[in-house]
Amino acid sequence: MNGGTGSKRAVGDVLHAVVERGWCSGCGVCAAACPADALAMAPDAEAALVPHDVGGCTACGRCIAVCPFGPHGPDEDALAAQRFADAPRHGGIGHARACAAGFAATERAHGASGGLATWTGVRLLESGAVDAVLAVGPVADGRMFAYRACSDVAALRACSGSHYHQASLDEALRAAVRARSRVAVVGVPCTIKALRRAASEWPALAACLGPCLGLACGQQKTHAFTALLAQRAGVPHEASVRTVRYRIKRDGVPPHRFGVEVGYATGAATATASGEFPFDAWVPRVFTLGACEWCDDLAAETADVTFMDAWVEPYLSEPRGTSIAIVRSAEMAALLEAGVADGSVSLEALAPDAVRVSQAAGLSYKSTGLADRLWRAAGSGMAAPRKRIAPGRDRRILRSLANRLVSDVARASRRSFALTGDAEAAFRATTIRRMVASIARSLDARLPSRGRTS
Ligand SMILES: Cc1cc2nc3c(=O)[nH]c(=O)nc-3n(C[C@H](O)[C@H](O)[C@H](O)COP(=O)(O)OP(=O)(O)OC[C@H]3O[C@@H](n4cnc5c(N)ncnc54)[C@H](O)[C@@H]3O)c2cc1C
Ligand code: SF4
Ligand code: SF4
Repeated sequence: MNGGTGSKRAVGDVLHAVVERGWCSGCGVCAAACPADALAMAPDAEAALVPHDVGGCTACGRCIAVCPFGPHGPDEDALAAQRFADAPRHGGIGHARACAAGFAATERAHGASGGLATWTGVRLLESGAVDAVLAVGPVADGRMFAYRACSDVAALRACSGSHYHQASLDEALRAAVRARSRVAVVGVPCTIKALRRAASEWPALAACLGPCLGLACGQQKTHAFTALLAQRAGVPHEASVRTVRYRIKRDGVPPHRFGVEVGYATGAATATASGEFPFDAWVPRVFTLGACEWCDDLAAETADVTFMDAWVEPYLSEPRGTSIAIVRSAEMAALLEAGVADGSVSLEALAPDAVRVSQAAGLSYKSTGLADRLWRAAGSGMAAPRKRIAPGRDRRILRSLANRLVSDVARASRRSFALTGDAEAAFRATTIRRMVASIARSLDARLPSRGRTS
């Protein structure tokens, strides 16, 4: 569909410069920001959500200006410095007024970790600071998950949890701007960056955009990941899947060993299947988006506050789950402090180093790993997006090999799913690469640590 509808299509628009190169994360901000409504979000052949040209492009260039992977515009450092210059900056996690670990008692049981993201949105709604929170939750149509404008607490609570399924902001954002609602937005780092870029290109959005609540993000998956999870849980036909809970906490089980639950239609009735989270596909990046291979922001550095899992002791031994918060704006600091004062939130101060330890694997993939991928791209004449980190060869051969193989796994699994439509077969098609990557990683871990030289 792209390019075939008589639109003007400026050279350098998002379809040419980002989507066709496989760098799109499916945030949908370009589609929302397009004044001609010339872009519509839909899955491509690899089951990744991307914008499609539906005609009417006037070549204004706003789509590429807002895109987080577009070549122009301020990067995360510049966007964050515009807002959070009064908070110290820390490598890997960005500006931080404070870091803390904790939970909100009312939201923890249904939250992905400690429920702090939902609690923060609830407080913003209850205080009247915003008219709605744009959050991702289940929807009863073929998309399964979508951004919803939650204007009451029940609607926001129904969105809690982490959904490893792409959701585009375009419809909810456009509707909020048209209604001139003041909104908070919950999103992964690339989505928040796109919103920041868009706010300076689109004055009507700037007037509506309230606090941005970031989620740390190591990777996002195409819809094929949900198909794999459903297949493994024993759902007879992927098309019958209606709901998925990706992270179910279990008594006595560490919070990072999730269970999953899939609701599916059987005739006129519905049934539920349970299973284990497919870590064997998650860790080696099976069905990971192409965009995520080029991402250098784990901690949503442009968000007013970022929430993440506390993957560090003593919190790893707590089955009910604990969130880490990186607080950047004064408004979010005051809101969390008020929650501590009235007892609705429990928080313990955390050093930035402890946050980095908690996210060590993701940060390494997005720093030395990304530098190595950029170096390889430069060497082979392949295009790569503009990044904050410079290309640099990782001379730790085993680590570099493992990183290279998992990038290949992501690409090969997406392509294989496009050809066969069978998620388990696409997973198996990457077996050798996954095994070699795992061996390389474990051998590398046994070697004394050495610095990267480039
Ligand atoms: C794709 C993805 C990758 C992640 N990767 C990491 C990681 O590498 N390391 C880490 O520590 N944490 C990661 N997280 C964040 C983590 O899973 C939790 O969201 C975070 O700990 C907050 O938990 P909570 O209990 O405070 O949130 P909750 O109170 O459960 O609220 C979660 C909020 O996130 C929103 N949400 C859920 N799925 C999506 C989505 N796909 N897109 C946008 N918003 C969504 C929900 O609408 C809800 O508002 C990731 C989250 C996602 C969605
Ligand atoms: S990353 Fe977002 S803004 Fe860029 S092309 Fe994809 S959907 Fe559009
Ligand atoms: S890893 Fe980066 S590009 Fe991928 S979804 Fe997360 S924030 Fe976006």
